[in-house]
Amino acid sequence: SSTVTTVLHMNGSSNGTKANGIKTTKPKLSIQDQRRSLPIFANRNKLLGLIKSHETLIIVGETGCGKTTQIPQYIHSARLEESGCIGITQPRRVAAISIAKRVAQEHGGGMDVGDLVGYTVRFEDVTSKKTKIKYLTDGMLLREAMFDKLLMNYTVIILDEAHERTIHTDVLFGVVKNAQKKRKERNIAPLKILIMSATMDVDHFSSYFNNCRAVYLEGRTYPVNMYYTIKPHDDYQTACVSTFFKIHREAPPNYDVLIFLTGQEEIEAVAHQIRILSKDPEVEGPPLKIFTLFGAQPSTMQLSVFQPVPEGHRKVVISTNIAETSVTISGIRYIIDSGMVKVRSFHPATGLEMLKIQRISQEQAWQRTGRAGRDSEGCCYRLYTRSQFELMSKSSTPEIQRANLNSVVLQLLALGIQAQYFDFMSKPPPDAVAAALEQLKLLGAIEDTENSKLTEIGRKMTKFPLDPRFSKILLTAQQYGCLEEALIVVAFLSGESVLLNPSSRKEQAQIVRQKFCSGYGDHVTLLNIYREFSNVGQSNKRAWCHEHFINMRNILNVREIRSQLEEICKSCDIPSSSCGSQMDLLRKCLISGLFMNVAELNRDRQYVALHKRQAVCIHPSSVLHGQQPHLVLFTEVVQTSKCYLRNLSTVEAEWLLEVAPDYFKHVNIRTK
Ligand code: ADP
Ligand code: MG
Repeated sequence: SSTVTTVLHMNGSSNGTKANGIKTTKPKLSIQDQRRSLPIFANRNKLLGLIKSHETLIIVGETGCGKTTQIPQYIHSARLEESGCIGITQPRRVAAISIAKRVAQEHGGGMDVGDLVGYTVRFEDVTSKKTKIKYLTDGMLLREAMFDKLLMNYTVIILDEAHERTIHTDVLFGVVKNAQKKRKERNIAPLKILIMSATMDVDHFSSYFNNCRAVYLEGRTYPVNMYYTIKPHDDYQTACVSTFFKIHREAPPNYDVLIFLTGQEEIEAVAHQIRILSKDPEVEGPPLKIFTLFGAQPSTMQLSVFQPVPEGHRKVVISTNIAETSVTISGIRYIIDSGMVKVRSFHPATGLEMLKIQRISQEQAWQRTGRAGRDSEGCCYRLYTRSQFELMSKSSTPEIQRANLNSVVLQLLALGIQAQYFDFMSKPPPDAVAAALEQLKLLGAIEDTENSKLTEIGRKMTKFPLDPRFSKILLTAQQYGCLEEALIVVAFLSGESVLLNPSSRKEQAQIVRQKFCSGYGDHVTLLNIYREFSNVGQSNKRAWCHEHFINMRNILNVREIRSQLEEICKSCDIPSSSCGSQMDLLRKCLISGLFMNVAELNRDRQYVALHKRQAVCIHPSSVLHGQQPHLVLFTEVVQTSKCYLRNLSTVEAEWLLEVAPDYFKHVNIRTK
């Protein structure tokens, strides 16, 4: 290895459990004692010394050792940030929010989150003039950079979870590196950069950041017993449930279990199965407390997962990959790893961006395993065979090499940078950059693909924290007189799902919501829900949501997003308008942004996406499922065994040429 490194050994005690696995009664530690018992605490002065003397530093330390919560507080207590602010990025909004709340609590002194410690995530800014420690999503810091290229609000920027290589973090690597250099050249307040992670290819990062120094925080971990399955499972969800009950029968109480699955639907289904089965009097084992953890969840629910369960109980946490490295839950002794993860990826060949469930990488498998060896010895059940493990890729592909780049290319243009010439740590595929430029051209955001100069529309688009396709819908709404309706639909598509479908009462939920269903599709259905929700009196809203299986928090959040987007529209001088009941106007307006997402029914009664003739079908959750309209406009593609389209509207063939002539003049559409 060519990188200069320092290793800080940390043999701090942790949490009153002995290495031999015998549980001692956990002393209830005060929050300050909890901080002092973290492995990182003993090395804080050495670490601060290194941070002080290096303008860029890589910090690698095992998950849970205290990097994210402690390092910003150490920096602040030494006043290294001086007159500026410490910004810490997180790939996930959930992590940014829950960590900021935790750190505000640790900091104490009667201060709330939003005072000294705050957070900024899309559509939610909980900071104030007093904020010195600011957690924010990587996407939000990138947006800030668009308006302040040198990031002058910050004197320290910590790019956390760097190994996740999200598209925004990857772009930020280049942006902060450039800001640091420019500030130095101009002799203005220096910018300190810390790159943090639980695991990473240090040489690659170090060489990108001018051969900067790396420090390893070596923590104590305990051995984890590994189990592979003998034969491959074809149903990992069921395998999770049966493996869980095998553990539940044998393990002593307070030996907690963490299950890794891919997304909300699966997680809720498994939680439901475990809940039902555990009520069976035949099932042995201590009383259970079941927690779920996924991105689309209200943050209060996410925080409850950190609370210890009473003596004699068992906690089971069912989580997406968020519990891999972003958050740490203490007390976990058993891991059940489905071996799967949901990722967003773009396929230039089909032109579709989809959410796809796929195998994790070996690096991820090791991170998941490590969650069991934090406070004592643990066990990890891998629901795949050893040879399936061997076949997994070593590490995951950076998102920049597999995602739709239209948003990022536009953001870079707003920064005055052409993506082709940007100093990326890993270059995106040229055909993906070309596809993004092509799409931006069709959206009217740039003048042409060679000279990718932003147009007036393009400049306005950058004001919205949205995918350019959604910004385009809002910017076109004036033409169709449907801004009010477009705002509501785009707000729904930007927030978390408001429809609750508890597995035990799915049918009942569908029956009470039947009255909202529109033959025009899901977008209009959502609009109907919103209109009725708005008409219900303030004091009856909760009961109404309960009755209609609507997630109250999420629909209030949609309302909040709607009003924030409305403010941005005002600042772009888009006059307010409503199309009343003329849903044709709204659907035409949706085409103006989503024209590349149209599928038609072919002669064999199958859908094909017009863009590159990929076979697709309508997702069972859509109100159009089973109806077979000739043409549908879709918002999202989810790939499981097939490519499923979600959130649809029916559209008419004549509209396509009328709304997006440049695109559709080259596309053949079958006449009915
Ligand atoms: P790292 O970033 O090194 O993975 P963190 O700083 O996130 O570690 O966490 C340090 C410790 O703080 C963890 O061991 C975890 O148990 C504890 N912790 C973090 N967030 C919370 C929370 N919301 N409630 C209780 N404990 C927490
Ligand atoms: Mg962390």
